[in-house]
Amino acid sequence: MKSLAEYEILAERAHGHLCAGQILGLRMALYGVRLLGIEDPEGADRKRLVTYVEIDRCATDAIPVVTGCRLGKRALKFRDFGKVAATFCDLRDGRAVRVAARESAKDRARQLHPEIENRNRQQMAAYREMTDEELFTAEWVRVSIGAEDLPGYKAPLVTCEECGERVNFRREVVREGRTLCRACAGERYYQPLA
Ligand SMILES: [Zn+2]
Ligand SMILES: [Zn+2]
Repeated sequence: MKSLAEYEILAERAHGHLCAGQILGLRMALYGVRLLGIEDPEGADRKRLVTYVEIDRCATDAIPVVTGCRLGKRALKFRDFGKVAATFCDLRDGRAVRVAARESAKDRARQLHPEIENRNRQQMAAYREMTDEELFTAEWVRVSIGAEDLPGYKAPLVTCEECGERVNFRREVVREGRTLCRACAGERYYQPLA
């Protein structure tokens, strides 16, 4: 594992700026990985981890910097719960731990660094220094990951009978005997203009 300072450089590059959310996300991932006993998430242990993130904000961008779990590798899952929390799953040992940011961390940052007026900079300084327990709650959980959601899953491609587009990973649905993509089955999030 790298030092927090080294991860900060990588996170700044990935996210576009360094902010309190980056420090928090890095610390969250380091804590989760440590609780699981994973020592080399980007190397020898790179196939062990799947991470579920619960918010699309700054902290989420920092998590793959530590875990190596990326959306395009099917190792990063997004559940939009609007919470600064993530669950780190060890596929090898079948264990998972959910780490959530404590709301009290912001107050603690104010206590630790009253001399820093800028709230973001105040939190950045404090989030580097605070203990894992001050920053986060952690609970052991069970996560049932379907075979079709795992990295490396292979299944035959299916063609939607409505639009003709190909569907991977068993995301197709069968309606009245027809095999459809989720868009044609009614889950479309966009409206065609033509
Ligand atoms: Zn940010
Ligand atoms: Zn379709």
